[in-house]
Amino acid sequence: MFLKNLTLKGFKSFADSTNMVLEPGVTVVVGPNGSGKSNVVDAMAWVLGAQSPKAVRSQKMDDVIFAGTAARPALGRAEVSITIDNSDGTLGVEFNEVTITRILFRTGESEYMINGVTCRLLDVQEMLSDAGVGRQQHVIVSQGQIDAVLNARPEERRAIIEEAAGVLKFRKRKEKAERR
Ligand code: ATP
Ligand code: MG
Repeated sequence: MFLKNLTLKGFKSFADSTNMVLEPGVTVVVGPNGSGKSNVVDAMAWVLGAQSPKAVRSQKMDDVIFAGTAARPALGRAEVSITIDNSDGTLGVEFNEVTITRILFRTGESEYMINGVTCRLLDVQEMLSDAGVGRQQHVIVSQGQIDAVLNARPEERRAIIEEAAGVLKFRKRKEKAERR
């Protein structure tokens, strides 16, 4: 499994539709301060279902929509798509390629799609948790997070490892079943 493509449109500083083709292996994003490198990482966290504005370095979720510049008016929607190569079947769906899309309108409405078909956030989350990309998104390691893992209490550290291993989904389902 690897990331093949990332498209941003109206997301943070990326007003115009911007497409990035990714190859297997390591990708490095370079650029001057403030040029949007971290915004690219925010876009990945966001399209994978990030729910807290903090997770995308924002105060409110609609801060991710292009806010305009002196030369250009603000936009009404942000859209990010990520394409994952699933030819090894890690995602547990039959598609060789999976594109996840998330759209947010300034009105507050949002939409998720898998391969162009509208779905629920839960569908995206469940598909990703099969691949160890859980809700807490430990696949994205930000500054300070390594310290946080090292300093976590044992039970917190266990939760992080369980989520990364894809176990948390089953624990959540078990808890839900037991409550019925
Ligand atoms: P550094 O090297 O300092 O870490 P960076 O390349 O990671 O910089 P980012 O943090 O990705 O930079 O980008 C910051 C820029 O994105 C700022 O200029 C900020 O104004 C712009 N930006 C953030 N949100 C929006 C938005 N909603 N609309 C327009 N521009 C935005
Ligand atoms: Mg940065």
